[in-house]
Amino acid sequence: MRIAIAGGGLGGLTLARVLHRHGIEAVVYEREASRSARSQGGSLDLHPESGQQALAEAGLAGRFRSEARPEGEEHRILDPAGHTLVHHQPQPGSFSGRPEIDRSALRDLLLDSLPGDAVAWQHRLVAATPRPHGGFELTFHGGHGTDCDILIGADGARSVVRSLLTDARLSYVATLVELNISDADRRHPDLAELVGPGNLWCIGVNQILAAQRLGDGSIRVGISLRAENHDIDTYRSKRALLDMFDGWDAGLTALIEAGDGAPTPRRIEAMPIGTRWASQPGITLIGDAAHLMAPVGEGANQAMLDAAELAGELAANPADPDSAIRTYEEAMFARTHPIAEMSARVQAMMLSPTAADDITRFFTARPTEPAPAD
Ligand SMILES: Cc1cc2nc3c(=O)[nH]c(=O)nc-3n(C[C@H](O)[C@H](O)[C@H](O)COP(=O)(O)OP(=O)(O)OC[C@H]3O[C@@H](n4cnc5c(N)ncnc54)[C@H](O)[C@@H]3O)c2cc1C
Repeated sequence: MRIAIAGGGLGGLTLARVLHRHGIEAVVYEREASRSARSQGGSLDLHPESGQQALAEAGLAGRFRSEARPEGEEHRILDPAGHTLVHHQPQPGSFSGRPEIDRSALRDLLLDSLPGDAVAWQHRLVAATPRPHGGFELTFHGGHGTDCDILIGADGARSVVRSLLTDARLSYVATLVELNISDADRRHPDLAELVGPGNLWCIGVNQILAAQRLGDGSIRVGISLRAENHDIDTYRSKRALLDMFDGWDAGLTALIEAGDGAPTPRRIEAMPIGTRWASQPGITLIGDAAHLMAPVGEGANQAMLDAAELAGELAANPADPDSAIRTYEEAMFARTHPIAEMSARVQAMMLSPTAADDITRFFTARPTEPAPAD
């Protein structure tokens, strides 16, 4: 049985690793040229019942504990004048909650756990064509190809594999503008103190200025804005951003001024909530390819749990992989539907005129709910 996984993100790599533990080999086809080809972004908190559960099934719980930062769970919520609305401090050294880990450290941990030839780098899937007697012919950018008996789309938000199963369209839910502040403790000690070891959210009307501490000592700044029908390239200028935050405390907007380079804006998209498809032989989706949702701290956790559950089903029923896929899909649809609904609700709440009150109530009343993402 030749298993091809399109995409070597957190979902695809977790899948390859859990299959490998069950003695089932798979090839991950990843479009990037190497593990260091692109910065992997901010840090994630892994939840005990999803991301951490998947890592336990991958046999990597111990390595996770040595890389994770429990202190990264600390979060502060301020108003535009700089007044503290919420300050949550986790128990020192406790792993009982949702410790943070840098995405790059998590991806490295998964890559290091796989055989050297498990990932085929620089393989961007451009087409998958069903073969007459089952399985798929895969074509990669550049024209080369291969085939497989089972194809798993773990190729993220703009999945190529998704179109073989559903015609669901993405919708634009928010704009995120990112900046990086390197070597923060030395170069910007005031900002390092403001952000602390975890996350900071400064909540305005329809806009949030957030910052997150990474394990390499840098600070990642993220500005969330409502989805608007105008050119997001406007936000490539710090001046334009500072104008939007006119009237905010200068200690907060210093996070924008201190950014290393020009800001990077991007559209945040989501699939229709409750997207499902009729199961087809030899093919399925995991992670963002299956259920891209508003980013409020669940996507990577669910992608990793999808991977562990799919691998478990395939290992439990090797004689009938199509039935294993059906069982996985039904459970995945039922699990992720309410999470996508909650994510959309939290996203709307974060970018509303009453966000400061709503978020303060949310965190003080329900401290274990997912935190807004970076
Ligand atoms: C700003 C932001 C903050 C977030 N914060 C959090 C958080 O705090 N917690 C959380 O749980 N989730 C968070 N998420 C969501 C999380 O990032 C995603 O849900 C998660 O990365 C999905 O994993 P994945 O493996 O499905 O996809 P990805 O991580 O996107 O991986 C897909 C992989 O496929 C590769 N690929 C794409 N197309 C092809 C192709 N055609 N051929 C071959 N390879 C291909 C890509 O290069 C990539 O390596 C956040 C998302 C955003 C945007």
